[in-house]
Amino acid sequence: MNYKYCPRCSTGLVKVEIEGTERQKCPGCDFVHWDSPIPVVAAIVERDGQVVLTQSKGWPGEFYALVAGFLEKAETPAQGALREVKEELGLDGEIVSFVGHYVFRRRNQIISVYHVRAEGQIVISDELAGYKISPPEELRPWPEGTGPALRDWLAARGIGNTGATDYHEQHNA
Ligand SMILES: [Zn+2]
Repeated sequence: MNYKYCPRCSTGLVKVEIEGTERQKCPGCDFVHWDSPIPVVAAIVERDGQVVLTQSKGWPGEFYALVAGFLEKAETPAQGALREVKEELGLDGEIVSFVGHYVFRRRNQIISVYHVRAEGQIVISDELAGYKISPPEELRPWPEGTGPALRDWLAARGIGNTGATDYHEQHNA
């Protein structure tokens, strides 16, 4: 994200190098736009050995994603991932493992991804258009966003990207 004017005093920002990186700085009040990454959490939701994917409203029919959302105040990433699973799918999940932290450079996000196991009846949130349950072998991760996390998770199970092509990862946060 870039600012043109200082959010504190409205002076035009200038580019200066600080700590080895070019950053936007205000010559009026010394505000520095650090552009720190935004924390996002995501869950690879496993139910009965299959993975639950969600589709946001307005997405093309073939686009599905992992459960994901912004971390909230005073929440740990694991708590956030379980909260998103509850909000989006209506499921009480449990953390199986931490998959990793992934840099989503284009959106300046750092995504903490968990493998979550959940059971029960899925009731999707109003913000979703639908969901899909796929065997892991049929997943085809997107190259960005949470895709690399899913790729690593699949690779740990001996599953590569040679299967079906009906899955595209798109981050919804
Ligand atoms: Zn300023």
